[in-house]
Amino acid sequence: MIKTYKVKLLPNNKQRTKLFECAGVARWTYNFALATQQENYKNGGKFLNDGEIRKRLTELKKQKEYSWLNDYSNNITKQAIKDVCIAYKNFFEGRANFPKFKSKKKSKPSFYVDTEKIKITDTHVKLEKLTNSKKKNKQKFNWIKLAEKGRIPIGEKIKYSNPRIVFDGLNWYLTIGVEEAEIKNQDYTEGIGIDLGVKDLATISTGQKYKNINKTSKIKKLEKRQKRLQKKLSKKYELNKIQTEGGEYRYRKTNNIKKLEFLVLKMRRRLKNIRHDYIHQITTSLVKAKPEYVVMENLNTCGMLKNKRLSKSIQEQLFYEFKRQMEYKCALNDIKFILADTFYPSSKTCSRCGALKNKLSLSERTFICDECGHEIDRDLNASINLKNYGKSIA
Ligand SMILES: [Zn+2]
Repeated sequence: MIKTYKVKLLPNNKQRTKLFECAGVARWTYNFALATQQENYKNGGKFLNDGEIRKRLTELKKQKEYSWLNDYSNNITKQAIKDVCIAYKNFFEGRANFPKFKSKKKSKPSFYVDTEKIKITDTHVKLEKLTNSKKKNKQKFNWIKLAEKGRIPIGEKIKYSNPRIVFDGLNWYLTIGVEEAEIKNQDYTEGIGIDLGVKDLATISTGQKYKNINKTSKIKKLEKRQKRLQKKLSKKYELNKIQTEGGEYRYRKTNNIKKLEFLVLKMRRRLKNIRHDYIHQITTSLVKAKPEYVVMENLNTCGMLKNKRLSKSIQEQLFYEFKRQMEYKCALNDIKFILADTFYPSSKTCSRCGALKNKLSLSERTFICDECGHEIDRDLNASINLKNYGKSIA
């Protein structure tokens, strides 16, 4: 499965200029290729394949007038030509209108990067030939900072597809397809229990833990920004309140309000996407390990969240989403999905001897058994109990 990521870039001013130049090269080449196709067709020729057009471009680059093209990556022109050939073919085979020339005003600036040449780290993306200098200290110029740290999966086994650099009228973005690699976990031969919590989002009976994404600085920052926008919006609404003759209040939707509402909506969606993507990663990797069965708590039971009201509801949504994904993915993979009974005391039971504790406050992070003295992480203890619950009824 290929998943597409879109991440904002933070180029410095010089890099920004260079990105516009690269997009200019892509646009110029696109138009050149389209004109070549048209000219050829007018003269009674057949469809030119991209190799043929590339050859003509190479010839052109030898002329002094066009030598500036040599300052940019070959892959930008290569893909622009390919794009034209595909568009042209689509037209001939009746799938699309005749391709249009790209005007500077109307077309979205963008260009292609070769999958072999692109390099991605947690914080930066390296593009090809932003600088022509081979000097080591100049090479830094090829690296553009990413706005979201660690968003795009990296690693030797990760396969990227169709990376493009796109300008949306305000910011530059990298869009890239990532083939979701098979994450090989240790193969469980038995079932697993999953304990959902606030400190860690999920603790698995195997000992794996998945941190709570709501506690990362990225999410916190975005949430703050969202709150600020929301406040601004309600202020604007208040300012545009009109009292009608009947004494009722009406709100006038100004363009400014519409714009703000759109921003709030966009932010909300973005937050939701980040959260859901994260849960998808977890649930997919758990299911891929093919456990015999999966046990989770009934969600009413993990409602004991002593958090502020807002974060509580968000947390509950996360839990709900986790359960929803786990349930359908288990169904798809023929894995038995078990919900523990609401009254099953997964937290208060010792996972070694089965003794039941009378009291366990939420602040106690370590479970210590009064009977056998077993000491274990609170959430891990609960998840092992859930797993045992599944064994007892399976
Ligand atoms: Zn015990």
